[in-house]
Amino acid sequence: MNAKTVKLVGGLYFIATPIGTARDITLRALDILASAEVLAAEDTRSLRRLMDIHGIPLGDRPLLSYHDHNGERTRPKLMQFLAQGRSVAYASEAGTPMIADPGYDLSKEAAEAGYLVTSAPGPTAIATALTLAGLPTDKFLFAGFLPSTKTARVSAIEALKDVPATLVFYESPKRVGKMLSDCLTVLGDRPAAMCRELTKKFEEVRRASLSELVTSVNEAPPKGEIVVVIDRARKAAVNVSDLEADLREALTQMSLKDASEMVAGAHGMARRKVYQMALALDRTDE
Ligand code: SAM
Repeated sequence: MNAKTVKLVGGLYFIATPIGTARDITLRALDILASAEVLAAEDTRSLRRLMDIHGIPLGDRPLLSYHDHNGERTRPKLMQFLAQGRSVAYASEAGTPMIADPGYDLSKEAAEAGYLVTSAPGPTAIATALTLAGLPTDKFLFAGFLPSTKTARVSAIEALKDVPATLVFYESPKRVGKMLSDCLTVLGDRPAAMCRELTKKFEEVRRASLSELVTSVNEAPPKGEIVVVIDRARKAAVNVSDLEADLREALTQMSLKDASEMVAGAHGMARRKVYQMALALDRTDE
């Protein structure tokens, strides 16, 4: 057994579990699973399987099922354990709790009641996909699952059109074709990646433009679990002759400084750069 039993103070411990490969779990998460007085899981069978793989006995500890459909009923029981000063560990079926998974109401209620709420961090498909997609990671927006009906999906994508960040979506293999094609229509042909079955035997990352991905998904429909990552909107390249024409026009009406400022603003360019161009133009036109 990799886990060791430790003395945990009373409180709620959120545990991240693997998104595929069972050994992608932290030693601390295993210690908490081995030591918590009460266990709760979105899917109790998956948690028991994971504990079996890592040689952690459940013993006579309670293991409660807690998910979106029984939360109202089960939450009071978990809150009661917390009120008794017990340590309660919660895991979702895969990955990090609350990332497109249950746990939010429980976390909020426990925190508001003043109990310790803590986390043993670990895998999530968001971070794994971002690591592999080959797209900028300086800023990203996790948009979860898009709506399944076309009208709602298209308006949800429209709302993301101008977000200056890499976009990350969860998607089902059944809907990914329609989703990619709506993204292509609304967002234009941006660089993207379809990341499938991450950390599992058939892990695959297709890095391509949205139009290429639409074709590829039609030709070879993907199976398994999917994350779609899409680049942010890029400013269209400035056409130099348009810029020079605008500068010449502006220079007939205003000072070099004002002309550069106005044209830089209109083209979304750095003022200094346009000023240098205006200076050069002014000299050649003399
Ligand atoms: N809590 C999980 C996490 O932290 O990533 C996400 C749970 S959500 C209900 C399940 C969705 O996450 C899948 O439909 C898929 O979009 C994505 N996902 C989970 N595991 C994945 C994997 N191994 N490869 C690709 N996508 C995955």
